[in-house]
Amino acid sequence: MSKKSIGSIIVLMLAICIFAGSAYADKTMNTDIAIVGGGTSGLAAAVQAIQGGAKVIVLEKQAKVGGTGNFCEGIFAAESKMQKRQGIIVTKEFAFKTIMDYSHWLANARLVRAIVDKSPETLDWLNDLGVQFEYIGPGGPGGALTWHVIAPGPDYPHKDKTDFHCSRMINVFNKYILANGGQILLQTPGVDLIKEKGKVVGVVAKDKSGETIRINAKAVIVATGGFANNKEMMQKYAPYPDVIPVGQIGKDGDGIKMAWSAGAGEEGVRVMQAYRPGLRGFGPADHMIGAAVQPYFWVDPRGVRFTDESTVVLWPYSGNALEKIGGTMYSIYDDATRRFMVEKGIQLQLGEWILQGTKLTKLDETFNKELAKKNGNVFKANTIEDLAQQLGMNPSVLKASVDEYNQMVSMREDTMFFKKREYLRPVATPPFYATKLNPRHLGTLGGVKINEKTEAVTQKGDPIPGLYVVGTDAGGMYGDSYDLLLGGGTAAFALNSGRIAAENAIQYMKK
Ligand SMILES: Cc1cc2nc3c(=O)[nH]c(=O)nc-3n(C[C@H](O)[C@H](O)[C@H](O)COP(=O)(O)OP(=O)(O)OC[C@H]3O[C@@H](n4cnc5c(N)ncnc54)[C@H](O)[C@@H]3O)c2cc1C
Repeated sequence: MSKKSIGSIIVLMLAICIFAGSAYADKTMNTDIAIVGGGTSGLAAAVQAIQGGAKVIVLEKQAKVGGTGNFCEGIFAAESKMQKRQGIIVTKEFAFKTIMDYSHWLANARLVRAIVDKSPETLDWLNDLGVQFEYIGPGGPGGALTWHVIAPGPDYPHKDKTDFHCSRMINVFNKYILANGGQILLQTPGVDLIKEKGKVVGVVAKDKSGETIRINAKAVIVATGGFANNKEMMQKYAPYPDVIPVGQIGKDGDGIKMAWSAGAGEEGVRVMQAYRPGLRGFGPADHMIGAAVQPYFWVDPRGVRFTDESTVVLWPYSGNALEKIGGTMYSIYDDATRRFMVEKGIQLQLGEWILQGTKLTKLDETFNKELAKKNGNVFKANTIEDLAQQLGMNPSVLKASVDEYNQMVSMREDTMFFKKREYLRPVATPPFYATKLNPRHLGTLGGVKINEKTEAVTQKGDPIPGLYVVGTDAGGMYGDSYDLLLGGGTAAFALNSGRIAAENAIQYMKK
């Protein structure tokens, strides 16, 4: 045989392999339910499926399970036993209406209803599995008490990250699955869904040695946690210039792309879990960022004040405002405010990380270190005009904004954006400090269109038999923005959608 014909045969074989796609495999496994993604939603689905009597294989891309679930703290529920015990009244009706109104009824009402309805029972289910809760907090100061915070381990905070709030729940799931016959294949991403005669009947995975595994399953649950690390998708759907992902590893949109390829429709793919503004490389407990996100005086790159700074308590609001001005803002404060934050403590707390009243004793050290780097993150000047020049702003524009703001401070009334007067502090005592801030997010919150059973559906709404999509791969829980009015919503969506998927997959298998 000539070299040319051998070459043609190889090309033909390769073409057959590519064409056959999912049909080709080095190894075959069989199960009832295959779950792609071993994070919050995928593991919840696995536990529920095992409890329902199904054989389960979980595919996880990383070397350990948990995904973003290793970072979260608290879970939304309405009418939970814990709430009732403490006299907290958050009815399912109130929660449903709050979510739907916030979304302007762009959310999928039946799906929202299903998640809200299941939410208290899911806390009981977690409790029965051995997950304990510490307290119930709000999404933001003064909000409804829905955020059921999982008790951290004795090593909290952070000596041992596996002892963090939700990671304790992840550990409970992991142990349960392994002790009850479930299989978890680590470093084995799902790469393709297998569809035959219009039904999803399995998934193709690749293990760490590069071997292809065909997993035949009666149903597949996709739970890969969104696309926060996929640059192309982020550019397309979340076009902030400098968005900083927090707690996201290997979120390449795999599950979303697989489901779309299998015929699923698109929903909510532009919704991001906007977080309070920050800077790349600085964690949530950093005092320099803690100072910069206090609700004092924020301007856009032209030097114009653009928001009620206290929107920062509800991150989606400050995230949206920051997006609207192009993704870069500067927080400016004077020396009197710097001293106030160091000596008296901050007015607005930063989640669990820096509590209200904390004295920012490490502010000067961090700020000066960053200033010495001259990397364009922080600035200091003795006059507003000099500061403006350093920030690349027209000095007269920034000066006019500062003068207007100081005038409002002296009147004790924000006549522009109606910010509460307790946050009105002058920008008058030199030196002046500025910190650049960019949008951050805790993940993406949509992609695949599903129904209230979490079945993947076509754009028209027809279910794709055998395919379920859950957690942050699925759309429908939000309108155009992440909702923080009821704290703990995204973890609750992951857990409840995972459980609902498993229950429905079992029903489907039995038919
Ligand atoms: C710092 C931080 C704090 C948070 N706090 C809260 C909170 O207090 N309350 C709240 O409600 N929400 C909170 N969240 C959000 C919440 O954690 C997430 O919404 C939730 O964990 C998402 O669950 P998921 O199952 O969709 O994704 P994940 O939990 O991220 O799971 C997805 C899994 O899929 C895996 N994967 C990806 N691709 C593949 C593939 N091809 N094959 C196999 N596996 C794959 C990933 O490695 C990952 O393990 C927080 C998020 C962050 C970052």
